[in-house]
Amino acid sequence: MIIRRSIFSFITAVLTALLLIGANVSAQEPSPLKGKRVLYVWGGWMGHEPDKCRDIFVPWMESEGAAVTVSETLDSYIISDLEKDFDLIVQTWTMGTITGPQAKALEEAVKSGVGLAGWHGGLGDSFRNNTEYQFMVGGQWVAHPGGVIDYRVNIIDKKDPVTKGLTDFAMHSEQYYMHVDPNVKVLATTTFTNEKADWIGGCTIPVAWKKVYGKGRVFYSSLGHVASDFKVPQALEIQKRGIRWAAMSRFEPMEAWKQPVYKGSKKK
Ligand SMILES: [Zn+2]
Repeated sequence: MIIRRSIFSFITAVLTALLLIGANVSAQEPSPLKGKRVLYVWGGWMGHEPDKCRDIFVPWMESEGAAVTVSETLDSYIISDLEKDFDLIVQTWTMGTITGPQAKALEEAVKSGVGLAGWHGGLGDSFRNNTEYQFMVGGQWVAHPGGVIDYRVNIIDKKDPVTKGLTDFAMHSEQYYMHVDPNVKVLATTTFTNEKADWIGGCTIPVAWKKVYGKGRVFYSSLGHVASDFKVPQALEIQKRGIRWAAMSRFEPMEAWKQPVYKGSKKK
C-alpha cells in the first residue's frame, strides 16, 4: 500500500513537472511582462517575508523583460504619477495603515487601467482601515483556523490561462478563510474540514481570483504565507501567470470577469 502510494506520488510529481516544463516551453514567445513598467511595493508585517518574496519575484519579472521599480514605502503611491509611470503594481504589504492620499492614488491608478497583483496577506490583508481598498481587491482575510496545516487547493477553472493545465495540489501552510466578493471570477478554491473549527467543515472558500476595478485588472492568490510556499510549483505558477495577466491590463480588451453566485446578478 505504502509502495503503491509512493509510486502514485512519484508519477504525480513527474506529470506536474512535465506539465510546467510544457507551459514554459510554450511561453517561449515574449512574456506579457516584456517592456512593462512595474512598481513592486513591499513592507508591512515581516512575518510574511516580503523581503524574501521580493527576491523571488523581482528577479523573475526582470528576467521576463519588465522594468521593475522596487519601493519600501507606501509614499511611492503619491510620489510617482502611477498612471503615467507604471503598467502594473505588485504589492506585498501585510496589515499596516494606508493614508487617505496614498489609497486614493493607488485606487485611481487601478481605475485608470494599471494592473494590480499580489498574494496572501500582502494584498488580501493589507489595510484593515480602508474599505475601498477591500472593494478593489475583492476579498479580505478573516481567519486561518489551526495556523499552518495540511490542506488541498482545487483548480475549478480549467480553461482560464492562469490555471489551465494545472491539477489539484497539496499545501502545508495557512489555509486562508476569506470574505470574498461573490462576483469575482474564481479560479481555485479550498475546502475546510471541521478539525480546527467544527462549524466550518465542508465550507469552500476561493484561493485565487481575477476581477477588475474600473479599467484595471486585479489578480489575487491566498497562497504564499512565507517565501518557501512558492517552492510548491503550482503555487508559484499560479502567481506568475496571475502577474502576467494583470500586466496586460491596459493592453488587452476587458475580459468577462464576473462569476455571479446569486440569482439576479448579470454576467458580463
Ligand atoms: Zn500568513
